[in-house]
Amino acid sequence: MIRQPENKSRRILITNRGEIASRIAKACRELGHTAIGIWTDNEVHATHLQFCDEWVHLKGSTNAETYLNIDNLVKVIKENNVDAVHPGYGFLSENADFAKRMESEGIVFIGPNVECIKVMGDKATSKQLANQVGVPTVPGTDKAVESVEEAVEISAKIGYPVLLKAVAGGGGRGMRACANEEEVRANFEAVGRESLAAFNNGDLLVEKLIVNPRHIEVQILADKKGNVYHFFERECSIQRRHQKIIEEAPSPFIGDDEELRQNVCETAVKLAKAVNYDSAGTVEFIMGEDKSFYFLEMNTRIQVEHPITEEITGIDLIVCMIQSALGDDLGFPGQEFIKRSGHAIECRICAEDPITMLPAPGLVTGFETNFPQGIRFDHCLYKGLNVTPDFDPMVGKLVAKGIIRDVAVRKMKAALNGLFIEGLKTNKPLLKVIMDNQNFIDGKYSTDFIKVENPNDLVNTDLNHMRFYKMLAAVEARRMGM
Ligand code: ADP
Ligand code: ADP
Ligand code: MG
Repeated sequence: MIRQPENKSRRILITNRGEIASRIAKACRELGHTAIGIWTDNEVHATHLQFCDEWVHLKGSTNAETYLNIDNLVKVIKENNVDAVHPGYGFLSENADFAKRMESEGIVFIGPNVECIKVMGDKATSKQLANQVGVPTVPGTDKAVESVEEAVEISAKIGYPVLLKAVAGGGGRGMRACANEEEVRANFEAVGRESLAAFNNGDLLVEKLIVNPRHIEVQILADKKGNVYHFFERECSIQRRHQKIIEEAPSPFIGDDEELRQNVCETAVKLAKAVNYDSAGTVEFIMGEDKSFYFLEMNTRIQVEHPITEEITGIDLIVCMIQSALGDDLGFPGQEFIKRSGHAIECRICAEDPITMLPAPGLVTGFETNFPQGIRFDHCLYKGLNVTPDFDPMVGKLVAKGIIRDVAVRKMKAALNGLFIEGLKTNKPLLKVIMDNQNFIDGKYSTDFIKVENPNDLVNTDLNHMRFYKMLAAVEARRMGM
């Protein structure tokens, strides 16, 4: 029998909010660690606090004053005898200065070593490393282009369409597709300027725009002892503005091509080994219609869509990530223990207009769920939650697991129908339309799905939703004897 050694209990500060803070707190508690949560002036009742053992208050309501304020976080860490910090995703999770500061303060950063964050945090240096070790990259440059003339020259060489891409970009921002030389000339300076303003770095790469591509990524987990494992692939091709909304595992495009699956996963492991990766991370690829695939970037943190991988492998990635950082034993002894079964789909529930797909901040006045078997909902919703423009619009992740893909889709439809969020505008009606789209049902889609199929045109004002609230109002009235 394989046994796991007992671990020492540590004090872990979660420097994040929302669903991921709850998720991390639960993992800390499962491992017997003390979960310390943060609350700020405009989130006194945050859901994650109920899963924490201790709470600290960060004065202020803007992110710059709270979750991004490194000096203040260090003060809190010292005052509370913190042993380790988990940054979640977004905020300081991929900030090499923060990781370095933790190192110098003698605090464990639950993430990879500083060098990994630096090399992989830059789309040029990570592409250079991939090229060095023979991992295929998108045709184009792996160094920032110096001038619009150079960009035009490279574009002519690789052929149009091309993509101008900020080396420091993220969250789908800092990218512009160009169909010809005029468009490169017209956009080059503007993309550079926008990137400088958004990411403090105006450097751009030029690469080939892969047509009708699939976004395929591989979940990696490595420990501090040199072991690197993969947890198979996820497909995240349903996107708006280059940002994911629906993800699934395994990839319907790879399907039962086990040789391709193995090749993609082993390529990701090769790159992770080359950078001495030592935590949970994701290697992203773009795959063409001919199934050739190219490295896009590595995200050196836990990703939003990690639950679908957990659902098909049965392994808790956050637990493993904490064990890895603390130098504790992972829950399994080797790659051969990581098996997959079934199919999982995640829908990101976002506070946004389902037709324009733009953020729609607002107040949650009611929240109920009624889910079938096989559903997991990681969320930060409660009656009274005020989603401000300062927060990420994603308020929850609905995950459906089925023995085969059709079952997962069926369960997701049922789950969407059983999710009631009152007051807040969300993309739920759009997600419902997508679940009914024949090409989605057949697994035939590329990253252009939303642009090509325009599912937002079919969104209606959700009469079911209204009917449910009329019913709730009637029940409430009866309860009050009205
Ligand atoms: P994934 O969803 O695959 O984990 P994303 O790139 O969508 O990865 O980013 C996850 C979170 O981090 C999102 O909340 C996104 O808005 C935020 N994020 C990622 N990169 C940046 C960046 N460079 N600047 C600001 N926010 C970012
Ligand atoms: P980010 O850091 O913003 O996540 P990525 O490089 O991971 O940036 O790209 C985000 C998305 O943009 C991809 O999932 C894909 O849809 C699109 N994309 C990026 N590079 C290319 C490319 N060369 N060809 C086609 N689409 C691309
Ligand atoms: Mg990406």
